[in-house]
Amino acid sequence: MMELTPSEAARLLSEAGRVLARQRKKVTVHCAVCGQATEGNRKRKYCSVACSLRAYRARNRESYNARARERRRARASGQD
Ligand SMILES: [Zn+2]
Repeated sequence: MMELTPSEAARLLSEAGRVLARQRKKVTVHCAVCGQATEGNRKRKYCSVACSLRAYRARNRESYNARARERRRARASGQD
């Protein structure tokens, strides 16, 4: 096996990282909430934080609304 100095090894590793990054293909995905086209890797589902939040709230509507009700009630009774 050939010997590498630490700096040669580091250079090779970062070159390998660049190659791997290039191979991760960017694809056009359509936001699951608003349908807007956006660039990202295949896992990406939403165009923005706003849309991912909206989807989260829709997914957890019951518990989210229950917490909101609870907060409103606490605020209303605290104002006395
Ligand atoms: Zn969106």
